[in-house]
Amino acid sequence: MSDTKHLDFIIVGFGIAGALLSYRLKEKLGKTVLAIDPCPEVTSSRAAAGILNPVTGKRLVKSWRVEDMLPAARKTYREIEKNLGATFYYNKTIRRIYQSEEELKRWNKRIDQPIYQSFLGKQFEANTMPEEIQDPLGSFEIRGVGNLDTDHFLDVMIDWATEQEILLKETFVYEDLSITENGVKWKDSSANHVIFCEGYQVSGNPWFKWLPMSPAKGEILTLSGIDLGTTDILSKQKWVLPIEDGKFISGSTWSWDHLNEDPTHQGKSGLLQGLSKMIRSPDSLTIHAHRAGVRPCTDDRHPYNGKHPEYPQLSVFNGFGSKGALMTPLLCDEFTDHLLNDVPLDPEADIKRVIDHYPGASQDQ
Ligand SMILES: Cc1cc2nc3c(=O)[nH]c(=O)nc-3n(C[C@H](O)[C@H](O)[C@H](O)COP(=O)(O)OP(=O)(O)OC[C@H]3O[C@@H](n4cnc5c(N)ncnc54)[C@H](O)[C@@H]3O)c2cc1C
Repeated sequence: MSDTKHLDFIIVGFGIAGALLSYRLKEKLGKTVLAIDPCPEVTSSRAAAGILNPVTGKRLVKSWRVEDMLPAARKTYREIEKNLGATFYYNKTIRRIYQSEEELKRWNKRIDQPIYQSFLGKQFEANTMPEEIQDPLGSFEIRGVGNLDTDHFLDVMIDWATEQEILLKETFVYEDLSITENGVKWKDSSANHVIFCEGYQVSGNPWFKWLPMSPAKGEILTLSGIDLGTTDILSKQKWVLPIEDGKFISGSTWSWDHLNEDPTHQGKSGLLQGLSKMIRSPDSLTIHAHRAGVRPCTDDRHPYNGKHPEYPQLSVFNGFGSKGALMTPLLCDEFTDHLLNDVPLDPEADIKRVIDHYPGASQDQ
């Protein structure tokens, strides 16, 4: 490690959020940074399929600020690819297969709404997809989709941070941090500021555990054995993302109990059952990998970014739920502008909106 004793920033957590923040602060803004994470093989960012989907859910709703987030994400990932000589971001199309007449009606409604027109593409007749796919009601395209290979992205970022000597592979112990008048002291180092990016484990953070989280476990499978006949991402109750060598990833499950990174039998059978509604020969599938992670979802489904109400030298960059790959690039730029130049955060991302949950709120105001 570098022997720097005074740092601009300590960043706790090196998932997508912490990695992007470390990169922006160090590489683009020239700050001194130390990122701390044991870098386990399984985290939410490692389990993620990394699909950047502009229109989601049963109700076909445009994601929050997606018209700004998608271009910002593409720009950020492409810049990092170019700078570090790697490829982990891909442009994609989703072929969404109608599950019901209801969904068909909803598409017809959405296609007339100007804000949806750039994302909703062609509509296809029933039974026009490759042989293996069941599309009895037809399908339609979602355009402008991105795909971040999160596993490869994190490997590249860990290599970069290791080379820069700014990554410490250990668990940050909260008791080792003391707050000083102008910053913090941590072990032998001092810093102006600490940014916490621990994903769902923020619930163990003594300064930010009051943030109302609703973490959700998710599981995915890597499979092969059938010819999908397309490189598009397929979606019908579950999604399927073709990757290399005839393999594809399929996900995902949602569960609010037993929050850990252990894959379950129940998760696997739920995924295979969901898939059987999309593909004709589920019995031909071979499972290559089964992963689980916990999404850092918040009560109102918007991120939690901002400074601690009492200790402005501590802040949080978290709460990206099921959309970390999509949201973090733009929000990382806005968050660093806030920290360095006092630019206000988007109120829908700012932790000020949940300040009532802070135990010290009444004394502070
Ligand atoms: C099954 C599944 C599928 C998903 N699919 C998608 C998708 O298609 N598209 C999309 O955009 N998002 C998807 N997501 C969501 C996405 O994974 C998250 O939004 C994103 O990974 C959150 O990143 P993060 O960096 O905030 O948290 P994490 O990835 O959880 O990273 C937190 C890091 O903090 C570290 N940490 C925690 N406590 C400490 C401590 N005390 N000291 C040091 N380090 C600590 C952990 O080791 C971890 O590395 C999916 C999630 C799951 C589970």
